[in-house]
Amino acid sequence: MLVSTFCVPALLLAAERLIHQIDQRRQDMAQAYCVKCKEKKEMKDATEVTTKNGRPMLKGTCPTCGGKLNLFIKK
Ligand SMILES: [Zn+2]
Repeated sequence: MLVSTFCVPALLLAAERLIHQIDQRRQDMAQAYCVKCKEKKEMKDATEVTTKNGRPMLKGTCPTCGGKLNLFIKK
């Protein structure tokens, strides 16, 4: 082992924090309100599309009820 046992907890903590940050960002991107479930759901098969107005948005399906989810991407 190259890494001393003293360094391992600190490294794990740093890695965990990083993963958490990335997760949070990803959730912010792909969560949309489902009108059927009446709560925010993580989009399944999210794809980026552009509306007629030229606004970018994410289209996906609700993992719980299979309903359509739309999310406008804030710029
Ligand atoms: Zn739903």
